[in-house]
Amino acid sequence: MRVVVTGGAGFLGSHLCDRLLARGDEVVCIDNFATGDRSNIAHLSEHRGFSLVEHDVSNQVDVDGAVDAVLHFASPASPADYLAMPIQTLKVGALGTHNSLGLAKAKQARFLLASTSEVYGDPLVHPQAESYWGNVNPVGPRGVYDEAKRFAEAITTAYFRYHGSDTRIVRIFNTYGPRMRPGDGRVVSNFIVAALSGEPVTVYGDGTQTRSFCYVDDQISGILALLESAEHAPVNIGSPEEFTVSELAQIVLEVTGSSSPLQHRPLPVDDPRRRRPDTARAREVLGWHPLVTLREGIERTAEYFKSQIAGWS
Ligand code: NAD
Ligand code: UDP
Repeated sequence: MRVVVTGGAGFLGSHLCDRLLARGDEVVCIDNFATGDRSNIAHLSEHRGFSLVEHDVSNQVDVDGAVDAVLHFASPASPADYLAMPIQTLKVGALGTHNSLGLAKAKQARFLLASTSEVYGDPLVHPQAESYWGNVNPVGPRGVYDEAKRFAEAITTAYFRYHGSDTRIVRIFNTYGPRMRPGDGRVVSNFIVAALSGEPVTVYGDGTQTRSFCYVDDQISGILALLESAEHAPVNIGSPEEFTVSELAQIVLEVTGSSSPLQHRPLPVDDPRRRRPDTARAREVLGWHPLVTLREGIERTAEYFKSQIAGWS
């Protein structure tokens, strides 16, 4: 297959490029480096099957030649990033998704949208099944991301219904691993970098809010299984194991052997209280379930950040 990956220089996108190339696909990565990093794809620059197009997909997207699949991953994903880039986030979720769907339609290619658990907002139903419509504040600070992704799901579904496009929607729950930016502001990278640097581990609020953390290799396996499936409705991909933020801090401190103190900071506005995917559909439709435990994944991610920190000094 010849696959276009928008946002291919980001955390998930670069792992996706790796896995597609490893299975023999050709990859065209389109990225404007808004939140991505050239170092994530530097090792691919000499790969025969890989090419990079530096482009903002909120503007028309053109790719020469045949394309078999378009995987739309371009978007800031960390709350710190999308709060700093609210308009760009809305544009890439709306216009960027429209342009990427247009490319897939023109090439008669399969299309996969990277959606998010944030479409459930601060959920009133727990765990979150795909049938839940969510509880989103459109005018709260997180609305720029949540509503962009909800629009992206709606337009993807409209292309499926009205143009007969061959679409997939993955609702990704908190995923972590090597190649997260050390300063991207998400909890796993913040905690590990702080622990390794001997800085305070910043727990927002009282730390009782929960998330369910999926290791990147498991996430990519789920995404590829969905791409190969015939499933057009949204599918949750994430870990069904739920942890409080305080529990995560404890695991990070244990794994890194750090004596960093915990420091409580104010809880961000509209921060979801609880989040855990119902993964029954992923299991039934894709036969997918995650393999890497949180402790194991944190160990691997801490090794990665250790090597990065060694590089900085
Ligand atoms: P990331 O910030 O590391 O990667 C996003 C990539 O998109 C970056 O390389 C960035 O430069 C690129 N990009 C942003 N705007 C662009 C534009 N207008 N044109 C071209 N490229 C652009 O984030 P990530 O964690 O890898 O997330 C990738 C996708 O997965 C996003 O769509 C995100 O919403 C979704 N997602 C991720 C998670 C997670 O836990 N990592 C959870 C839910 C959804
Ligand atoms: N969080 C935290 N300390 C940090 C960063 C985040 O306590 O340094 C909390 C945040 O308030 C949220 C959870 O960790 O409750 C996950 O935050 P993240 O930004 O990783 O992703 P979200 O799931 O909120 O999109």
